[in-house]
Amino acid sequence: MKYIDPHVHMVSRTTDDYDSLALTGCVALSEPAFWSGYDRFSADAFVDYFEHITSFEPARAKPYGIQHYTWLCLNPKEGEDRALTKEVLQIIPTYLDRPTVLGIGEIGLNRVTRNEMDTFLEHVDMAVEHDQMILIHTPHLEDKFKGTQHIVDALASDSRIQP
Ligand SMILES: [Zn+2]
Repeated sequence: MKYIDPHVHMVSRTTDDYDSLALTGCVALSEPAFWSGYDRFSADAFVDYFEHITSFEPARAKPYGIQHYTWLCLNPKEGEDRALTKEVLQIIPTYLDRPTVLGIGEIGLNRVTRNEMDTFLEHVDMAVEHDQMILIHTPHLEDKFKGTQHIVDALASDSRIQP
């Protein structure tokens, strides 16, 4: 059986994992941008990351017959840093016309703070402005339901988003 993996972070996987995915029938996958296990020191690190997931990973997947697609954003965890967010939001649009980019994601909330919500809404604004799909991450912590409700409420009250 052939299948598409809709959510995998290959940047933290080995080449052997591409081999295993191919053996089990994976023909395509989508990689949302996310936290790398540590907070990045500057917006330049995101340039490197976006290059990696729009160039290196598609090339690494290709020999295994796997099409690699990706989503771009500053993730909800680092989204607490508003100064970093402002810098990264200026970088993202320069990558949106790359052929394997599917949209903006995975955006959302982590600890459900005001800063995270502002970062989330700015990503939504950018997606609307550039006619991009969005992929939403819901909080991993004990606030999953509350955080998800906040996300739904914020989107429902945004007059520019059509149901
Ligand atoms: Zn993820």
